[in-house]
Formats: sequence, structure tokens, C-alpha cells
Amino acid sequence: MKHCDKCHLDVATKEEFCPLCQSNLIDIEMPGAEVFPYVPTIYKKYHKFFKFLYFICASVTVISVLINILLLPQSRFSFLVFLGVVCFLLILKIALTYYDNMPRITFLYVLVLSLLSILWDTITGYRGWSLSFAIPIICLVGSTEMAIVVTIMNIYISEYLIYYLVIGILGLIPLLFLLFSIVSTDIPSLICVFFNTLVLLGLFFLQKEQVLTEIKRRFHV
Ligand SMILES: [Zn+2]
Repeated sequence: MKHCDKCHLDVATKEEFCPLCQSNLIDIEMPGAEVFPYVPTIYKKYHKFFKFLYFICASVTVISVLINILLLPQSRFSFLVFLGVVCFLLILKIALTYYDNMPRITFLYVLVLSLLSILWDTITGYRGWSLSFAIPIICLVGSTEMAIVVTIMNIYISEYLIYYLVIGILGLIPLLFLLFSIVSTDIPSLICVFFNTLVLLGLFFLQKEQVLTEIKRRFHV
């Protein structure tokens, strides 16, 4: 921090002259006075909580490995516990990183939770619940959430519209499940595809200009 005797002002600058009167500035030491305020990350702010959380996660994993080896050597449940812990931390990480960007969180959750459901279904002896139920329901929840925000709450932020569009397109993927008959129950996929078709039709007829403008802006086309 520097000081101008003429203007009686403190100036936060590296320049030697006062921006107002151009006279020489005098260095003044102000311990702790930063030009930019210190904003702790959520991890720094709650570092005790996170330390504790990581400790619990590590302990649960180690204890489950121990029980697995000592009591149930035939089983591989500790591997599932470990994956569960990783999934939990991943989901938490997304929420904490993008907590102020609701459409991006929704998009990432639709993507990550869908992939995790396939992973879980596969490693626990594939029974098809991920494609039949989990993915259609996750997509449906995601696009319903976006529909509520964009349509009902009337938030016409162009970024929201883009994510709404992308989630709506993702929500058509269950159509492939139906076409290739790879699901045991059609209803969740049908509802998901039907709803997301409405979403896309709505975007096309009601917000086409805004969506196109945003696409052009983003991809410079
Ligand atoms: Zn001055």
C-alpha cells in the first residue's frame, strides 16, 4: 500500500506516482492489507470437516478390506465399498465445485450418475436395471429440474438454455434402448423419451432464436 501526502489517500498500486495528482507516492507498510480480499475455498473454510470426512472414508475402506480378508475371503465386497466411497467423493466434489452453477451440476450429474449406474450394474453381475430404470429416471429428473427452472421459474439465461438443450438430447438416448430392445421394462424409457421430445419441441418452437444465438456465440459459427 502507498500513500499520497497531497491527496491524503492510500493507494493500492505498484506505480510510483499518485493516479490523481501525479506526485510521488510514499510506501507504507500495512501488514495483512491485500489488494484482493482473501476468499477461502470451501475446502479451506471447512478443512476440519473435510479432514474428518476423508479419515472416515479411508477408515471405512480399510476396515472393510480387513473384514473381507479375515471373515469373508470368498467375497469381494470391500472392492464395492471402495468404489462406493470413490463415487460418493466424486458426487460431493461435483456439488462443491459447481455449487453456484445449477445447470452444469445437473448436466454433470446426469452424465456421471448414468455412467456410475452402468458400472455398478456391471460389476454386481449385470441385471440390466441401469438401462431399464436408472438412466431413464436420472435423465427424466435432470430434464424435469431444468424444465422447472427454465420454463416455470422463467430464468432465460442463455447458458441455462444450452444445458437444457443438451440434457434434453441426452434424454433421447433411452430411445436407443427401446429400438434395440435391450431393456426389460419399457415404461421408464418411454416416459423419458416422451418428456424429452416435448422439451426439445418446446425449445425449438419457443426459444429457437435464443438457443441459436447462444450456440453461435459459443462455437463461433
Ligand atoms: Zn495525490
